[in-house]
Amino acid sequence: MRSALVIPAAGQGERLGAGRPKAFVDIAGECLLVHAVRGAVASGVVDTIVVAAPDGYADFVNEVLDGAGRPLSVVIGGSSRRASVAAALGALPAGVDTVLVHDAARCLTPPDVFRAVSAGLAAGADAVIPAIPVADTIKDVSGDVVTRTLDRAALRAIQTPQGFRRDVLLRAHAETTGEASDDASMVERLGYKVHVVPGHREAFKITDPMGLMLAEAVLAERGSRA
Ligand code: C5P
Repeated sequence: MRSALVIPAAGQGERLGAGRPKAFVDIAGECLLVHAVRGAVASGVVDTIVVAAPDGYADFVNEVLDGAGRPLSVVIGGSSRRASVAAALGALPAGVDTVLVHDAARCLTPPDVFRAVSAGLAAGADAVIPAIPVADTIKDVSGDVVTRTLDRAALRAIQTPQGFRRDVLLRAHAETTGEASDDASMVERLGYKVHVVPGHREAFKITDPMGLMLAEAVLAERGSRA
């Protein structure tokens, strides 16, 4: 099985308010993208990397990922996450049969999560995604009025990397119209079975300044353990 890591890293990250695209904000001296690739490569299940970068960042990405130890392609992303993933899929090298799509914003995802997703694909699944239980009670709300309370026991928060057979993911991108907040939802709509493996709290998505503070704390704690 030859696996490509596809990283959509072209979002502006305006909620972060850092004055530059989110994937290029530093935590502990290195940008989110570098941390994300390091965790993925450490898993041992990534053979090649494709990054979708914001316009103007391709040279920087090539420079900071020069030492990643895997062949790297950089494409310019699109105006939505979905468009950025599609651009990256257009640059997949020949011979790749599985794809792990991983948000740069989930840059502290532990290597074990990559291994679990990859193992599911190796066992024959079309699609495998990491999930964690939901801690909050989730309600449907219309305006400022609750319309329904969902059964928390059946809910999961979905993370990345999301792993797919290459042909399944390419078909999903080719045949789905409209936006999708993740790749698995497009694959689900085509009727494929999407399997779930355990995610990890440290695979949280950095969206705001508090996420950055949490990431700094996680890295400090990992450093003190090392
Ligand atoms: O904005 P959000 O945090 O949901 O984005 C998830 C991931 O998708 C991030 O890694 C971001 O860089 C990426 N993205 C992208 N192109 C966009 C929007 C988001 O690559 N146009």
